[in-house]
Amino acid sequence: MKPDFKQVEIVKSFLQGENDDWLFSQSDGIRRQVFGDGVFIRGIIEFSNYCKQNCSYCGLRVPNKEIARYRLTSEEILFCVEIAEKQGIRTIVLQSGEDPYISDEWIAGLIAEIKKKYSIAITLSLGERSFETYKLWRNAGADRYLLRIETFNRKVYENARKGHYWEDRLKCIQMLKELDYETGSGFMVGLPGETIDSFADSILELTKLNLDMIGIGPFVAHPETPFKKESNGDVLLTLRTLAIVRILNPLANIPSTSALESAQKGARLTGLKVGANVIMPSLTPERVKVLYNIYPGKNATRDTTEYSIEAVRKMIGEAGLHWSDSVGGSPNWLNRKQLENTL
Ligand code: SAH
Ligand code: SF4
Repeated sequence: MKPDFKQVEIVKSFLQGENDDWLFSQSDGIRRQVFGDGVFIRGIIEFSNYCKQNCSYCGLRVPNKEIARYRLTSEEILFCVEIAEKQGIRTIVLQSGEDPYISDEWIAGLIAEIKKKYSIAITLSLGERSFETYKLWRNAGADRYLLRIETFNRKVYENARKGHYWEDRLKCIQMLKELDYETGSGFMVGLPGETIDSFADSILELTKLNLDMIGIGPFVAHPETPFKKESNGDVLLTLRTLAIVRILNPLANIPSTSALESAQKGARLTGLKVGANVIMPSLTPERVKVLYNIYPGKNATRDTTEYSIEAVRKMIGEAGLHWSDSVGGSPNWLNRKQLENTL
């Protein structure tokens, strides 16, 4: 009889290494059943590293005076989108810190302009905002939104994001669903204070959110943050988590994250073999990309965008998979739409 992954004890035992070979072959099998051997590519444009927040884990937090800050112009962003289109990338992700100097309207204008010029899906990853702002951006043409819940452990959350409440983050995710975004969330593995029990619960709680996209990466300690002395999240534990999440969420788009690669060279390739079906190369211009230093190793090389894309192509080949030229919507979201239309 197959193990029931809806039971917390089963999740816990696989997180602890009950049977990795079996776990990884199951998750890879499910990924292949749903997505074949295609990998969806998302070009990520990190357009500002200014942030008004104070997250204890992130190098962009406001008290970090050691990094030079940058903000791209709309012309520079459009140039990145142009490269994406030329390279056959069908989704771009616009990500930034919570930059207080960029207005909601400016972002809405940018979204509308991209949608007018290019046949490309837009994912936003711009943090916690109001319902009105999410609505403005959705109406401007944004298709998807990524907002990680970071952890399901309230205490761990409130220690990692001082002055913020976990419930507010959850509310944002609910708003995004209400506004019909393809909605993504996820968490870091190994945040200080997390235990294996709370973590197993988190996987089941995350699954209950019925997400279209799920991002999971190890916590990587940044030297300019209060968490500088904490240990990094374990890579094998992250891969096991990814595999279990795939088994529980067969229709979700799941990236193999760059944090995996930062924590251990080659781990992003392994992620593709154990259930991930998405890869997100950075399209941020070489001039500034090293400054988007959320965690050590993130955008660490000054490689050109073309070189980074070529490296991703190679990695996909090495994983025995192929670069999909599909726009890569989540089957979970498409099913939901179909169901709504039949009601
Ligand atoms: N400002 C936005 C988007 C940028 S941060 C937001 O916070 O949602 C994107 C993600 O990077 C975060 O959700 C977090 O999960 C991840 N991240 C931040 N610091 C990290 C660290 N030290 N190690 C690993 N991942 C980190
Ligand atoms: Fe800002 Fe996001 Fe970093 Fe928090 S995780 S400091 S919100 S960029």
